[in-house]
Amino acid sequence: MDAGSVTFPRAETRQIMVGDVPVGGGAPITVQSMTITKTADVEGTLQQIYALAAAGADIVRCTCNEPEAAEGLARIVPRSPVPIVADIHHQYLRALEALEAGVDCLRLNPGNIRKPAHIKAVAQEAKDRNVPIRIGVNGGSLDPALYEKYGGRVTPEAMVESALQEIAYFEEVDFDLIKISVKASNVPLMIEAYRQLSEVTDYPLHLGVTEAGPPPQGIVKATAGIATLLAEGIGDTIRYSLTSDPVDEARMGRTLLESFGLRERKNVDLIACPSCGRAEIDVYEVAQQAQEAFADREIPLQVAVMGCVVNGPGEARDADLGIAAGNKRGHLFVRGTNVAVVPEDEMVPTLVEWAEYINDNGFDAAMERAKATRDQARRAAEEDRDRNLEALGDDANASEQVVELLRKRR
Ligand code: SF4
Repeated sequence: MDAGSVTFPRAETRQIMVGDVPVGGGAPITVQSMTITKTADVEGTLQQIYALAAAGADIVRCTCNEPEAAEGLARIVPRSPVPIVADIHHQYLRALEALEAGVDCLRLNPGNIRKPAHIKAVAQEAKDRNVPIRIGVNGGSLDPALYEKYGGRVTPEAMVESALQEIAYFEEVDFDLIKISVKASNVPLMIEAYRQLSEVTDYPLHLGVTEAGPPPQGIVKATAGIATLLAEGIGDTIRYSLTSDPVDEARMGRTLLESFGLRERKNVDLIACPSCGRAEIDVYEVAQQAQEAFADREIPLQVAVMGCVVNGPGEARDADLGIAAGNKRGHLFVRGTNVAVVPEDEMVPTLVEWAEYINDNGFDAAMERAKATRDQARRAAEEDRDRNLEALGDDANASEQVVELLRKRR
């Protein structure tokens, strides 16, 4: 089976609209992130929202923790490029103000707003305005009564019960524009809570590992939780909660969905060989430079950086475009065909230039462009390949010598 045709069946959920972005009901899975500015700082917050949208966020959440934040939202929402969710923690009045400010969604934490009358007042107002609400259960701030009931521990069952209790309050006033999250910083706990929740409700689910921490460990934790659930078909919208620039959160979310084939590629998918004794450049360094050069360019291609021309073009023949090092030169190839040869210090700019050319004009035009240089590029690649093989032999990593030595020692 062609890897591109592998898909994961998705759990059927209802669909809600967060502004003009559909969530659930088979809609593309969306990426969310959260601003870390003071929401009252309108220009600073908008700047961050634009950066998050450019990095792949479909929906952005801003805190609404004080009256000035609600006023900020009233100014931010009309100018935002993406729908805005107001994050409400303890005071239900902030929720009412955020609705008045025109937000596209609210996020309530049932562990923090516990008076049924308050919850219903917010639900009624949201219903009148047709604004959805995320019920954000959080393992770290579970309702104390549920915590006691489950033996002084946060369990998946306790988190699901908290979500169901809250849903019941909303349903009492006929409010069903709901999405739910049951986040925890403990990955197995979070996975099991979402699994159980997905069994008992068809409201769309917002996935996340809360307080995942700083990269790179935070990225691994968040990915472990979110990716496991996505592979099981669970989840309609996701957020990486990293202790880092929120732009990283949006990028990671987008990258995860693209790598699952759940969203179309928006940015370059950079692949690079792991390097070995045959490498003729510092692969890490050049891959890093390429990553930075492509970071903000919306070019949906897979681009390869390979350490040698002996195996590079072959190992990366499925990439749309790639470059392999050899004899102080960069050998550029498009879908496995050598198209140009450039000095080593021009490898990254050349990759960027060809990626932009392919993005603007297509592959046929790129092959046409390569007509004049293709033969020379192939010959140069062969020369450098032979030279590398001559210098390093077939076994550049000396593996066979080590195996021989090991055998002798037995
Ligand atoms: S053989 Fe070449 S392409 Fe493969 S890992 Fe080594 S340097 Fe990279």
